[in-house]
Amino acid sequence: MPQATVFAATIAGVEALPVEVQADVTSGLPGFGIVGLADTAVLEARDRVRSALRAAGFEFPNARVLVNLAPAPLRKHGTGFDLPIALAILTATRQIPAQLTAGSTAVGELALDGSVRSVAGTLAYALAAARSGHDLIGPGGALGAARAVDGLACHRLDALQELRTGFSSVPVPDHGSDAHYAEPDLADVAGHACARRVLEVAAAGGHNLLMVGPPGSGKTLLARRLPGVLPALDDAERLESALVHSVAGLNEAPVLAGQRPFRAPHHTCSVAGLAGGGSPPRPGEMSLAHNGVLFLDELAEFSPSALQTLRQPMEDGSLTLVRAEGRVRYPARFTLVGAMNPCPCGFLGDPDRSCTCADGIIKRYNARVGGPLMDRMDLVVRVDRIDPDLLLAAEPGESSSIVRQRVLVTREFAFARGGLSSGLSGAALLHACRLTGSTSRLFSETAKRNHFSGRAVTRVLRVARTLADMDAEKRVTAAHLAEAVGYRGWESR
Ligand SMILES: [Zn+2]
Repeated sequence: MPQATVFAATIAGVEALPVEVQADVTSGLPGFGIVGLADTAVLEARDRVRSALRAAGFEFPNARVLVNLAPAPLRKHGTGFDLPIALAILTATRQIPAQLTAGSTAVGELALDGSVRSVAGTLAYALAAARSGHDLIGPGGALGAARAVDGLACHRLDALQELRTGFSSVPVPDHGSDAHYAEPDLADVAGHACARRVLEVAAAGGHNLLMVGPPGSGKTLLARRLPGVLPALDDAERLESALVHSVAGLNEAPVLAGQRPFRAPHHTCSVAGLAGGGSPPRPGEMSLAHNGVLFLDELAEFSPSALQTLRQPMEDGSLTLVRAEGRVRYPARFTLVGAMNPCPCGFLGDPDRSCTCADGIIKRYNARVGGPLMDRMDLVVRVDRIDPDLLLAAEPGESSSIVRQRVLVTREFAFARGGLSSGLSGAALLHACRLTGSTSRLFSETAKRNHFSGRAVTRVLRVARTLADMDAEKRVTAAHLAEAVGYRGWESR
């Protein structure tokens, strides 16, 4: 009985799990069945495989063909099974030798003309192959990302026709891990001394940041420059973030080159768009921002349910989707940068134009963002429009690389002291601040006078600790506290 097994994999979350594709060709009524908890895309492989094999000059067996995907309880997704199914049938019918695919994991979608196309998640497939001790078989377009996996051998196959001559020689295309991807630079930002300072504090301490200001004041311009002043991704972060991009079908090359992700979903973005979803499930914006920056412009315009979904990842650094077929976990640890107008008309506090909003409306507008989310914004900064005359006269600002250098020094100091202050609270935070008796008394008077909540105190202390780190000081001083109190936004007004 002609039988063959070829290894494949299926995506679950940001991982690919190994699957065995067993083809069984028996005499009997001609037919082609696929069993083993396959989704519609996998079932449609039947038509693509049949046409592709014929187009490539192979024979589709005039017999009963049964393909079993094992293990049976695992849900199999997507068009990446086309290639392993075709290879299993070709092996079972002795049209290609079994050793051609032995010890390999195959992934690829087939076109009707026999060409092989890459599918989303190549990096995940590559890691799965490496974990199984296999080589990877796939189209050239897919193998670039596989370069990021140490020691993995790749066999390139761009069309089934090529199987007649064996696989193409395999120096994998250079993925360009040394390539440079241009990022917007702080040098392009004139003026905005206060916002630039706050951006540096946010980068140094890993703090979330809210910018409040009228339309056209440069909030987006500033936010886009945060990734460029953060340290480059380390090796583990690169792989984590690249996996999310790969599984989502996005280009993972900039991330693999060390660039921090920057995601800026529109305020009409759905909950599924933010958190992930669909069938098969795909990661959302919060996961695409993993290890990078999630920028939410017009924060108050996001739906309450969308803002609500931010809470779990902001606490856990990951999120879990509950699906009919089980749970999917996606990483989602990001720095949140929000931007909003000071009021619905946008001109509250503007020196040139007056606000036309009623008091009640402004209160309701600010309340939309909600206390729990505001508690996570350590830094709130006002960003105003710059006088065009000043703008033209302004010296070019410091470049991102100079600021990043200082951020690296600050972070080194912080880690030597015990860790970034954005992760501290309670007794650990107080201990890290090492306030003197008189500074401590002064601060509790300020807190009482301004009716600070316990959470507000925590946020001020965190920021003050980062400011002290920037000065390479072991103790938080009254000056650090005073500056930190200034970054509290409307709560303290
Ligand atoms: Zn207004």
